[in-house]
Amino acid sequence: YDAKRGGGGFALYDGARHAESGTALTLVEELRAGITGGQLVLHHQQQVDMRTGRVVGVEALVRWQHPRLGLLQPARFLDLAEAHGLMDALTDEVLGQAVRQLARWRATVPDLRMSVNLSPSNLLDTVLPDRLAVLLAEVGVPAEALTLEVTETVLLRDPERSRAVVAALSAHGVEISIDDFGTGYCSLAYLRDLSVSELKLDRSFTADLLRDPRTEAIVASVVELAHRLDVRVIAEGVEDEVTLARLAELGCDQTQGYLHGRPVPADELRLDLTPAP
Ligand code: C2E
Ligand code: MG
Ligand code: MG
Ligand code: MG
Repeated sequence: YDAKRGGGGFALYDGARHAESGTALTLVEELRAGITGGQLVLHHQQQVDMRTGRVVGVEALVRWQHPRLGLLQPARFLDLAEAHGLMDALTDEVLGQAVRQLARWRATVPDLRMSVNLSPSNLLDTVLPDRLAVLLAEVGVPAEALTLEVTETVLLRDPERSRAVVAALSAHGVEISIDDFGTGYCSLAYLRDLSVSELKLDRSFTADLLRDPRTEAIVASVVELAHRLDVRVIAEGVEDEVTLARLAELGCDQTQGYLHGRPVPADELRLDLTPAP
């Protein structure tokens, strides 16, 4: 090798390129190891029944306790997991933790339900329904106590295959919720054809409800449509009492949001919220 040949410049460029892709690769590799190494933790947020004011469900929301970067929110790593084929492992880990936690809580709150989010690739995983059935049987939690939240966009990827996975999940008795309802490509055919148990009204509707009559018209109509299909409606992102009261008037069945509590680790979650006097 002739050092004066100009190869140094090439080596420098090459090194920089590797360093750059190396950083991204490191985070993926760290995530891969973190998923199996117990670094994923679940935070939980209450879902409150409108009529009784009681906590009837809990949504599990994943976080990554990164050894150097601290507690990472899902926005920091879900896309990475999805892009690098780690979502099956991530979801298995989340479902395992969620179902076990649900079993612990149900020992004192027998009817409590748990909601877990699924990602687009989960609905292409045709073996997920059977793995989940095995988990539920192992832990001793009835499938009916579990709600899986899918977004409208998730169903668009490969509609036929996703429908089959959703059908298999509901055949096992697990409930299906359409998350962030109203923001995606919302096809009424899904509501007709899939066995959906819940619509989760997107936070943007909740946030605009009081100041925008058109939002209110949409919420009122969605609630009526859902109820005619025997589907319950939960509003997400409820942050104040006035919005809660309006949602009650509009017939919304459940609410979730900072008003009741922020997502917290299981041992900090209050399941005994009492309605305001
Ligand atoms: P999502 O399922 O729609 O969850 C609601 C998000 O809104 C959560 O953010 C929650 O912390 C936040 N939130 C709850 N109440 C309020 C409120 O009153 N006001 C406001 N401003 N925000 C509120 P988070 O935990 O950062 O999760 C973001 C998204 O990441 C979730 O949206 C869900 O799509 C996804 N995600 C979370 N955990 C998992 C998981 O285990 N698996 C998969 N595949 N996705 C997950
Ligand atoms: Mg959700
Ligand atoms: Mg949502
Ligand atoms: Mg949302």
